[in-house]
Amino acid sequence: MAANDALVVIAGGGFGGLYTALAMADRRPHPPILLIEPNERFLFLPLLYELLSDELRSWEIAPRYDALLAGRGVAWLRDRVVRVDAEGHRLQTAQGRDLIYGRLVLATGGRPESFGVPGVKEHSLGFRSLADVERLQELVQRLRLERRPLQRLAVIGAGPTGVELACKLADLLGETAVIELIEQGSELLASGRSFNRDQARAALQRKDVRLRTHTRVLAVEAEALELSHEAGAGNGPRRETLRVDGVIWAAGSSASLPELHPIPALGSGGRLRCNDDLSVEGLADVFALGDGALALDDEGRVLPTTAQVAFQQAELLARNLLHSLASEPLESFHWNDLGEMISLGVGNASLTGLGVTLAGPAAFRLRQIAYLARLPGLPHQLKVAAGWLSDLRR
Ligand SMILES: Cc1cc2nc3c(=O)[nH]c(=O)nc-3n(C[C@H](O)[C@H](O)[C@H](O)COP(=O)(O)OP(=O)(O)OC[C@H]3O[C@@H](n4cnc5c(N)ncnc54)[C@H](O)[C@@H]3O)c2cc1C
Repeated sequence: MAANDALVVIAGGGFGGLYTALAMADRRPHPPILLIEPNERFLFLPLLYELLSDELRSWEIAPRYDALLAGRGVAWLRDRVVRVDAEGHRLQTAQGRDLIYGRLVLATGGRPESFGVPGVKEHSLGFRSLADVERLQELVQRLRLERRPLQRLAVIGAGPTGVELACKLADLLGETAVIELIEQGSELLASGRSFNRDQARAALQRKDVRLRTHTRVLAVEAEALELSHEAGAGNGPRRETLRVDGVIWAAGSSASLPELHPIPALGSGGRLRCNDDLSVEGLADVFALGDGALALDDEGRVLPTTAQVAFQQAELLARNLLHSLASEPLESFHWNDLGEMISLGVGNASLTGLGVTLAGPAAFRLRQIAYLARLPGLPHQLKVAAGWLSDLRR
């Protein structure tokens, strides 16, 4: 076996990639593992709203990779994979490195999708990075200080990100701005649980968030949105120009992948079609998981793009990588739906799953504790828990 035949390269250190690396590193012995990730810090995205509202601190939800991986037997290269030649088992990085791997994991996640709507990139904010949180905090601060009449923020997309963000923003801005939550479908949280949907609807009403369903964004401009209201039977769509002080785009995402050769089969959202052992269809010795992978549950339904899915896939993939290197049969992935939790403003949440249905401050605490147990690595979990305990004593 040549020197690199056993090297497992993991592209992307988010939920899928980092947890695969950590799960493999827990096995003794394990093959050499190289994580390629351009960012300095892992980001625990489900708690990003609490960073925006200052309920949590950045070191808690965004630990540094060098601290997480110290002494774990995982090498980290701060770089980005730009091209993969699956037949040659080679990859190239943005900084010009050329590497040969034995097994490759594509865990490069997703990116915001504009769906071709003009002006999204130029005039709206996203919400999936530390830089996005900073930009949004600056906007909130500006609106609080300026206090001009009829200040308005628009959040586009009433999926989980849009709903959770609208609730936090409403709490942060109070009466200084109106929050418009704009959804082209007929319902908020369309694929969510009915209990959480009811709780979310009630929370939005309490906070005076204006939910507009059946409303499509045609264009985003510097200080306005062009909207089309898809009216009921008999009436054609009605257009409206809505003046806004800021737009946050939370309308959906698509897979973010490096250039791949040979070009593999892609499914909805540009996601890689995967076999049930998480190997990528048509690319030998390449595996994928998380938001960039299109995998199915036992009933053949497409799995959602959630951290919960990526986390469970990581455990299985770590085992399958070892099986694959040992030429053993691979295991199939079986999704275990543990339920759904959403935050609904400062100190408030709703959750349902595993026999528990709860809303309000108790749900908020339970959600934080559940996520504490999911933070990467025991040392980091203990450090965060110690911080929370000392906060309670103050
Ligand atoms: C604001 C927000 C809130 C969320 N809340 C929840 C929630 O409450 N519950 C839940 O289950 N899910 C939630 N999700 C979804 C969840 O975070 C994602 O499903 C999960 O992060 C997917 O994991 P991933 O590894 O595929 O991608 P990511 O976690 O996005 O990680 C991808 C990583 O790949 C890196 N990368 C990208 N391109 C390259 C490249 N070419 N080379 C090397 N590295 C690369 C990126 O820098 C990133 O670190 C939320 C998402 C967002 C944005």
